[in-house]
Amino acid sequence: RKKKPLLEVEGLTAGYGAAPVLHDVCLTVRPGEIVAVLGANGAGKTTLLRTLSGLVRADGGRIAFDGEDLRKVRVEQMVRLGIAHVPEGRGVVTELTVDENLRLGGLWRRDRADATRALSEVYDLFPALAQRRASAGHQLSGGERQMLALGRALIGRPRLLLLDEPSLGLAPRITAQILALLRDLRERTGLAVLLVEQNVRSALAIADEGIVLSLGRVVTRNSAADLRDDADLRHAYLGF
Ligand code: ATP
Repeated sequence: RKKKPLLEVEGLTAGYGAAPVLHDVCLTVRPGEIVAVLGANGAGKTTLLRTLSGLVRADGGRIAFDGEDLRKVRVEQMVRLGIAHVPEGRGVVTELTVDENLRLGGLWRRDRADATRALSEVYDLFPALAQRRASAGHQLSGGERQMLALGRALIGRPRLLLLDEPSLGLAPRITAQILALLRDLRERTGLAVLLVEQNVRSALAIADEGIVLSLGRVVTRNSAADLRDDADLRHAYLGF
């Protein structure tokens, strides 16, 4: 039997001004599920993540997280609810060290002992970060910055990760490593992931389901396996 949805989006409309970017978007993410958000440049993928995390205001529709109406939740509260957004470009503070960046991810937590435990778990998960603990953000490679951004999000022990283009600018080997790690995390912790990814093959290789956005609308919603096998869809929207 399928688990109860963690995130449920229905009829979502959102944008930056008069003209909406997203139209009538529906999607569901269950605990432990990885859902890929696919589509061409400008399809609205980043806007979707930004709307879910409260950075862009929804104009219409319903966003429920664990039964709670997310449209009524302030951005600062999202992280307490268990929603972590890792934006495109990653948002690492380049002047701070790796360790300071990671600690930032746990500053809001009341359970200090668990924040400390989470920090050491992140170092176990990313040995490369442990080695570079004292290095400044600006000294890191692209892959290390992505790991840092992900690690910082994990210190809040999120239930839902909104992950925007984790492979941007990374070598395929590093991308594969990061995606494998997501799969491992969801298995061990039940983490749910909404994954925006240009690299469609890699995304569908680890996702359970996918939605395809075109001009801000969901044109397809299906299992990752069916999306992989759908040649017409791949040609029309996914470019391979
Ligand atoms: P990409 O892969 O290029 O990031 P995307 O699918 O993530 O594409 P969005 O970045 O969500 O697409 O952009 C969707 C539409 O919204 C585009 O037409 C874009 O021009 C517009 N848009 C994005 N950000 C803003 C903004 N801050 N103000 C106004 N319009 C915006």
